[in-house]
This record gives sequence, structure tokens and C-alpha cells, in this order.
Amino acid sequence: MKVVLATHNPHKVAEFQQIVAQTRPDLEIVGYDGPEPVEDGVTFEENALLKARAASAHTGLPALADDSGICVDVLGGSPGVFSAYWAGQQKDAAANLALLLDQLRDIADEHRAAQFISTIALVTPGGTEHVVVGRWPGRLAHSPAGVGGFGYDPIFIPDAQPDGAVRTVAEFTADEKQAQSHRARAFADLIPLLASL
Ligand code: IMP
Repeated sequence: MKVVLATHNPHKVAEFQQIVAQTRPDLEIVGYDGPEPVEDGVTFEENALLKARAASAHTGLPALADDSGICVDVLGGSPGVFSAYWAGQQKDAAANLALLLDQLRDIADEHRAAQFISTIALVTPGGTEHVVVGRWPGRLAHSPAGVGGFGYDPIFIPDAQPDGAVRTVAEFTADEKQAQSHRARAFADLIPLLASL
């Protein structure tokens, strides 16, 4: 059975296929090349659902969509759904990161709590809808460190690292990140829901 993933990004399709194959090798994850809805939701859940609904309606297939970002406690959960374009519509990851650091420059370590959040929606042509959420708690560094990953990884220090290490996600290996990330946590809750397909 085919399941469409509401993204034009082939890396995301491959990542989802790899995870889903662990329990449902019969499901083929395919990319989506239909019209994309305006992401005008104000929560991750709304945006994930509107993308999954559009992909399912256009293809007639069950659809998955994810929406993610970084949420900073002292900013009331921002950048949140605005993570990709925090510093403007040009979606410049380096500028986003620099702006966030600047906004927090006077904030002490104990008040720099943040979390990465990943929300995945599953929508079937029959109208059944599920949403799962993965959270990866941590805090923001005062300056970037590391070269791995993408986006806000160089300034996010996850909690509960082995031996009390203090590393940003950009200093993790790809496997380490994939084992612990907000997306991995959301995937873990998604897997049992695939049984309904
Ligand atoms: P998207 O919903 O996957 O497009 O992610 C939205 C934005 O959230 C990205 O452009 C990044 O700025 C941020 N983001 C989401 N996941 C991560 C991550 O794993 N590392 C760093 N930044 C992330």
C-alpha cells in the first residue's frame, strides 16, 4: 500500500521510508508533487494536519505530514511555527540562529530552556485523523558549536546527555541525533498508528 508524505524533500521521504519499513515493510512512502496548501496554521498540529489533508485529498491515498520547530520557554514558545523564517521570509538558517541568540543574549543559563518539537499528522481518505508529537527538551547555548545537522542544531544542547556531557546537536553524530531527536520520538508514537492502515 502506498502512503504519500506531504513534502517535496526526497531526504524526508527516505527518512520516513526507513523508519516505517522497520514495522511495515508493505507500506511504500511516496513523495507528493501536488498543490501545496498555504501553511497558515498557528500551531504545529494545524500545519501538519492541513498539509496531510491536502495531500490525501489530491492523491486519494493515506497521507503523512510533519511540522517542526524550536520553542523557547522565555519567548513563550517562539519561534515555534515561525522557526524556518524567524529572521524573515528568505528562510536563512544562519540569520534565524543569529537573531535568536541576540534576543537571548542577556538571559542566564537557568532561563534558557527550550525544546525541539516535531508533530506528524496521519490522514486517511476516509477522514480518519491522528496527530503525534515528539519533544526533545534542552537549553540554548550562548554561541554556536559544531558543524553537523541543520537549522538551530548548533545552539541546542539537549538535556540528559551521557556522562553529563554538554554538547550541541551539531556536535552529535547523525546516528546519535536520529536515535534521540524530536522526530524519532514522534515516529515512535506514529508506528502503532500505522496498524490502522
Ligand atoms: P520543518 O517543519 O521540518 O520545515 O522545520 C521547520 C524549521 O524548524 C526548520 O527550518 C528549522 O529551522 C527548525 N527545525 C526543525 N527541526 C530541526 C532540527 O532537527 N534541527 C534544527 N532545526 C530544526
